Amino acid sequence: GLRLLMAQDITHLKAIERMRTDFVANVSHELRTPLTVLRGYLETLQEMENGPSVYTRSFQNMSAQTERMQMLIDDLLLLARLESKAKKSECVQIADLLGQVCHESDLLEKDERRVTLSLASTANLRGDALELRGAFSNLLGNALKYSPPRSPVHVRWDNLPDGSVYLEVEDFGQGIANHEIPRITERFYRADVKRNQKIAGTGLGLAIVKHVLVRHDAKLEIESQLGKGSRFRCVFPKQRLC
Ligand code: ADP
Repeated sequence: GLRLLMAQDITHLKAIERMRTDFVANVSHELRTPLTVLRGYLETLQEMENGPSVYTRSFQNMSAQTERMQMLIDDLLLLARLESKAKKSECVQIADLLGQVCHESDLLEKDERRVTLSLASTANLRGDALELRGAFSNLLGNALKYSPPRSPVHVRWDNLPDGSVYLEVEDFGQGIANHEIPRITERFYRADVKRNQKIAGTGLGLAIVKHVLVRHDAKLEIESQLGKGSRFRCVFPKQRLC
């Protein structure tokens, strides 16, 4: 009797969980379209420069807020997809993938190139290329976002003595206080809210990274010093190499 009940409960819980992730995915998807339309109109209005300055400022604020909403929706959608979708398992060519990710992120930087890529390992990973790409570009995006404009960011792909491999993203930016490190991979958590007010973000990026890594049997190690910089390391076990 008790056993049967427990089995039923679990099925029931799984159904609820599934409904929840489907719901988030559907709602995020539906919210995207009107928001894109809104942003289009706002851009048009902003281009009409001759209005009173109070208009200009209002349009700027509205644009900033819609952009924020867009990021939030995109991240929620990605997270919901990760939770509901079975991951692909293919041999992902890491050198190519990292080359692309670094190149794309660096192009977004208006001034000098800041990203260096060092490929000390030739290992490839069994997993889902899109997910890995999302995780790596999130880490790189953060490194660029939370460090000063011209400061370099180093990306490394290397072997460890025990046969595992790691991806490391190092920056020389603002760093993270020790007590906040354990919390930054939580959903919606943003460290040092006051200082980060001007830096756009949803607090979902690292939650996504963590999720992707768990799905690839990998660990995330974070080392950081306030005012000095941070190092995010994803360690993949040797069973994942291909
Ligand atoms: P977001 O960047 O959207 O706020 P994340 O989940 O990617 O969300 O990161 C959570 C928080 O962790 C950030 O708000 C920031 O405070 C901190 N953080 C992440 N990466 C770095 C980094 N490279 N340097 C300093 N702080 C970081």
